[in-house]
Amino acid sequence: MTFPYEAPVSQSLFDRASQVTPGGVNSPVRAFRAVGGTPRFMVSGAGPYLTDADGREYVDLVCSWGPMILGHSHPEVIAAVQEAVARGTSFGTPGAGEVELAEEIVARIAPVEQVRLVSSGTEATMSAIRLARGFTGRAKVVKFAGCYHGHVDALLAAAGSGVATFGLPDTPGVTGAQAGDTLVLPYNDIEAVRAAFAAYPGEIACVITEASPGNMGVVPPLPGFNQGLKDLCAANGALYISDEVMTGFRVSKAGWYGLDGVTPDLMTFGKVMGGGFPAAAFGGRADVMAHLAPAGPVYQAGTLSGNPVATAAGVAQLRLLDDAAYAKVDAVSAEVRALVGEALTKEGVAHRVSVAGNMFSVFFTDAEVTDYDAAKAQEAFRFTAFFHSMLSQGVYLPPSAFESWFVSTAHDAAAVERIAAALPAAARAAAEARA
Ligand code: PLP
Repeated sequence: MTFPYEAPVSQSLFDRASQVTPGGVNSPVRAFRAVGGTPRFMVSGAGPYLTDADGREYVDLVCSWGPMILGHSHPEVIAAVQEAVARGTSFGTPGAGEVELAEEIVARIAPVEQVRLVSSGTEATMSAIRLARGFTGRAKVVKFAGCYHGHVDALLAAAGSGVATFGLPDTPGVTGAQAGDTLVLPYNDIEAVRAAFAAYPGEIACVITEASPGNMGVVPPLPGFNQGLKDLCAANGALYISDEVMTGFRVSKAGWYGLDGVTPDLMTFGKVMGGGFPAAAFGGRADVMAHLAPAGPVYQAGTLSGNPVATAAGVAQLRLLDDAAYAKVDAVSAEVRALVGEALTKEGVAHRVSVAGNMFSVFFTDAEVTDYDAAKAQEAFRFTAFFHSMLSQGVYLPPSAFESWFVSTAHDAAAVERIAAALPAAARAAAEARA
């Protein structure tokens, strides 16, 4: 397709980046490969807006893929970071900030009795899996097609997110041995899980699932699915790991757990809890966490784990996330979804606005989407046209039809108005798009 506008400074940065970095980016989905065109190199963010290197402003509906739930450059988070930075940036020792962040997490999420801080969601899920295997003495891991848990070798089988975007069933570099103990099952299919436990008695260490998937687009669990996972795990001596890296502290004060109340054995967190810095965590049952070094034999470590600047940002952000903040995010989400639905309906575009708490995405299909195969069956080419129309009108959407959209407390009436103004043309572009 042709692109109705240019971004010369971003293009020149992308050209330079492509010389020194594979594909010009440090995380694949940023390269716009799914939608084409020039990735925007952002130079600043304020509230609901991002400004790119060409000086164009966008309403941001990505929010750094979730973390910026208070909008960009929130003054209290920035102040906490500046105060922390002034005291030093890394000590390699324990510090008060990490205790405060851990206490904040434990206070919010009842199933988390103990928590270990790490620097990325990938580290969190990788470590949780290792701990589950160490605790149970079993090797096999169950995951679901379309669920993304970071780029953990054993979990890069039928993953969503960037992997979904590129349509790679797997990735070179992951050996048969690394993925061989991973059973990939269709999402929302509890009978498949029951069958897996029956086929491998005493061999499954854990079932890991996104608490509510957001990496194949938003595909919430069907009623009873998460409870069914928990019950099957409990009946078979396996651990139930709920990956809340995306949903944690975003869809409610206690994340998805706060909405469905199903108690996992282990949970993983990232994104929002770092306030825009690299901080993530895994935690859960104290008797399981007691197996982690130095309390127990399962090794896990990190030079920058519990970093004082990252923990200061995370604590400041979490303390600002009270009931009123979530009510605001929920309300903005509902408003934007309604506007998107109306615009697409008006142009006769087949679509489903799929919702999980305040996370949502649009599937360009009439059919119900409850698993990865259904998500992939959508008319993604319509999203491409929709995306570029929105971008040209100053609204920054995730550059893939398989990602969640995110809003923040900073998305005020003016930001929503800009989105509303851009939607009619974008819906028309989606309607006129050809595969
Ligand atoms: N788990 C989920 C559910 C995620 O959405 C992501 C990232 O998008 C991860 C894990 C990996 O987190 P990170 O990118 O911080 O490694």
